[in-house]
Amino acid sequence: MDILEESGKKVVLLGNEAIVRGALEAGVGFVAAYPGTPSSEIPITFSRIAKKVGLYFEYSSNEKVAFEAAVGAAWSGVRALVSQKQFGLNVAADSIMPVAYAGVRAGLVIMVADDPQGWSSAQSEQDTRFYAKMFRMPMVEPSNPQECLEYTKIAFEISEKYQIPIFLRTTTKVSHSIGTVKLGELKKPNTKGKFVKDPDRFYNIQPHLQFLHDRLDKKIEEIEKEYGYKLNKIFLGEGKIGIIASGVSFEYVKEALQELGLNPPIAKIGLVHPISKEFISDFIKDKDIVLVLEELEPFIEEFVKQIAKDVNPKIIIHGKDMLPRSGEYNLEIIIPALEKIFNKKFIIDFKNHKEIVNSILKNIPPRKPVLCPGCPHRSTFYAVKKVYGKDTIYAGDIGCYVLGIYEPFNMQDYVISMGASVGIAHGINIVSDQETVAFVGDSTFFHASIPAIINCKFNNSKAPLVVILDNTVTAMTGHQPHPGSGFTGMGDKVEPIKIEEIIKAIGAEMRIANSFNQKQLIQALQELRKIDGLRVLISRGECRLLTTRKFREKGIEIPKFQIDKEKCTKCDICIRDFACPAIMKTIKNEETIYYIDLDMCTGCSVCMQICPEGAIHSIKKR
Ligand code: SF4
Ligand code: SF4
Repeated sequence: MDILEESGKKVVLLGNEAIVRGALEAGVGFVAAYPGTPSSEIPITFSRIAKKVGLYFEYSSNEKVAFEAAVGAAWSGVRALVSQKQFGLNVAADSIMPVAYAGVRAGLVIMVADDPQGWSSAQSEQDTRFYAKMFRMPMVEPSNPQECLEYTKIAFEISEKYQIPIFLRTTTKVSHSIGTVKLGELKKPNTKGKFVKDPDRFYNIQPHLQFLHDRLDKKIEEIEKEYGYKLNKIFLGEGKIGIIASGVSFEYVKEALQELGLNPPIAKIGLVHPISKEFISDFIKDKDIVLVLEELEPFIEEFVKQIAKDVNPKIIIHGKDMLPRSGEYNLEIIIPALEKIFNKKFIIDFKNHKEIVNSILKNIPPRKPVLCPGCPHRSTFYAVKKVYGKDTIYAGDIGCYVLGIYEPFNMQDYVISMGASVGIAHGINIVSDQETVAFVGDSTFFHASIPAIINCKFNNSKAPLVVILDNTVTAMTGHQPHPGSGFTGMGDKVEPIKIEEIIKAIGAEMRIANSFNQKQLIQALQELRKIDGLRVLISRGECRLLTTRKFREKGIEIPKFQIDKEKCTKCDICIRDFACPAIMKTIKNEETIYYIDLDMCTGCSVCMQICPEGAIHSIKKR
């Protein structure tokens, strides 16, 4: 396993894997996470190696409790890491700020991955650097896999030395970039600690607050002084035009300057909070023009402008006036900005490049993202639409089922954040007479939906129909376990927490149906539609990818289905309304033929149930 290779070796790692290696070299003993792309490979890797290296790892039920568990470990003297995607940080934020005040004993690293461009089906392009500023916490930002390893180690060092939790921020391109990484020494993890009582430190209430706040500010000042030149670097060059860059933008600008044969001075920012005033002053004091390159918000640019007023008021500072505030950067975006500040026309013909790309794209059939063949959610969407029709308000949430937004279902009228489907539907129900159906995934149920469902019951609302899509795992991010799965992140068996027991305790009307059984689903939905108040349907069916993987491992043949040409009336329901990607139609000898691609079919049997002509059969049973 590359990640556990010995010191001195050079191995190829993903940025996220390099973070894991850096944490291992720092002797991390406790890791907690809620999975979320683009950070998912961090917990996946820890889950694989935790027992082997002797550290504790858990998938927590949400990011807030993951953070709190890591705090418990760090307060007891065990180095801890917690990882999440950008929105996960919003969930954890409530606890992070008080812990910044209280501080830590052992190192505590909060890894957060931002997602400019929203590749991970993100709901917004959040820039988490502002959390560091608001919480008065340090934040380091690597640019490549080697730095992912090194910065993780440095983050533990800073955190422990200054007794302060620290952010390690990446963006998608850094987390998912692949590069050669030189490994350092692995450290035996310490997993045992002791919580020593210290009321002056851990009570974040008056009369301590001002003292804790002042102490936090002092720590930040000291970190700025000590690491301002260690984590930020100046690359000397020629001329009075300088570049300031951080994160992946630094890698892009290096490449662009090489392409263009330019060698201006560059300041690379690795410590994005606190940014060193001294470092920035040193860099800008003799420059005429500076271009600040950073994805998303003008976080560094605004700081540089502030410093420039005193240090070099005549300097011209460019940034978001030339570069977009949204989306990811690339050479095509950066080079025109460089052309402007260097007042040169470069011979790179992006127009031609674009035309070539477009001509290739023209020959690729456009494909929207779709639910997998045999996905239990497709079957549930189909049944819900049959019973509730197209005019019902369908409340969406975060998970694979977000794909229900597309044709033919169009059953996510809004998607906001985890748990928001029920919360918003409740508000709609209070002020309107419209019918609402709120979809909730099983992992989302444990993560953030329980309070929203309780709120419906508590406030005696007409309530939406809540459909819990229970496919037994956190499927979207790679089949990680949740409290209902029956196993932990370290692979140990545990008693699964039953969703139905929680719903029963809340006191909702409930039905449980097999997601792959249309008759059961439709009967349950029809019954629930007639009832007033809070109603819940648990549609339970294992993610088909998991089922087929288990079949393969056990040597069980995956059932396959086929369409009987004689019986098929070409009504198109199986394609137009159900849309399993394994069902195809083609024209042969001027005749339209419907058939099932046997390589894609996962044998869920639902197409057989929805075909009005009984034209679809299991191949084995015929
Ligand atoms: S639903 Fe049945 S009858 Fe209609 S096109 Fe598909 S296979 Fe043929
Ligand atoms: S059985 Fe039918 S619905 Fe299920 S995967 Fe195969 S073709 Fe698709």
